[in-house]
Amino acid sequence: MSHRPNTSPLMFHVRDIARSPGSHREVQESFPVPQALGTSVISVPEGAELELTASLESVAEGIWVSGTVQAEAIGECGRCLDEVRQDVDAVVQGLFTVGKIEVGEDDEEPEDVFEFDGENLDLEDVVRDAVVTQLPFTPLCRPDCPGLCDQCGARLVDDPDHAHEVIDPRWSTLQSLTEQKES
Ligand SMILES: [Zn+2]
Ligand SMILES: [Zn+2]
Repeated sequence: MSHRPNTSPLMFHVRDIARSPGSHREVQESFPVPQALGTSVISVPEGAELELTASLESVAEGIWVSGTVQAEAIGECGRCLDEVRQDVDAVVQGLFTVGKIEVGEDDEEPEDVFEFDGENLDLEDVVRDAVVTQLPFTPLCRPDCPGLCDQCGARLVDDPDHAHEVIDPRWSTLQSLTEQKES
């Protein structure tokens, strides 16, 4: 049994419940992510497994979606550039209405409101919002990652006592002269 057209794994056919407030459908599915979810530094990559557990409830205004989504995001440590893997367990919720909800001029655009055609619910945006808000702006391989040496680029975690001799620029000319003499 499939309630979904083939266009997107996140598209759910809801015509049967859309016009009968009070009815609902439970969704529990795993599928590959159709398009990477995240930012340039960390994301759930395209094709990665996404697990969605949600309830689609028919309400007077449309369909209320609430549930959770789980996946693994892969990124790059902002300090040492190592790979970072992070489990994402995000709350998904949104109201899908047929046509835009009327908003007064002074009212703010309501959050978590999406449009649908009355038949097919595309959960990609609501899932994307949920996942992206869980991702860090600067992913770190560990909270105390020491990063890279700003002089030579060495990984400081491999070499914690790493140091460079700091030479006063006024002496460096003198030192190179000495080195020239020695060689
Ligand atoms: Zn790191
Ligand atoms: Zn160094």
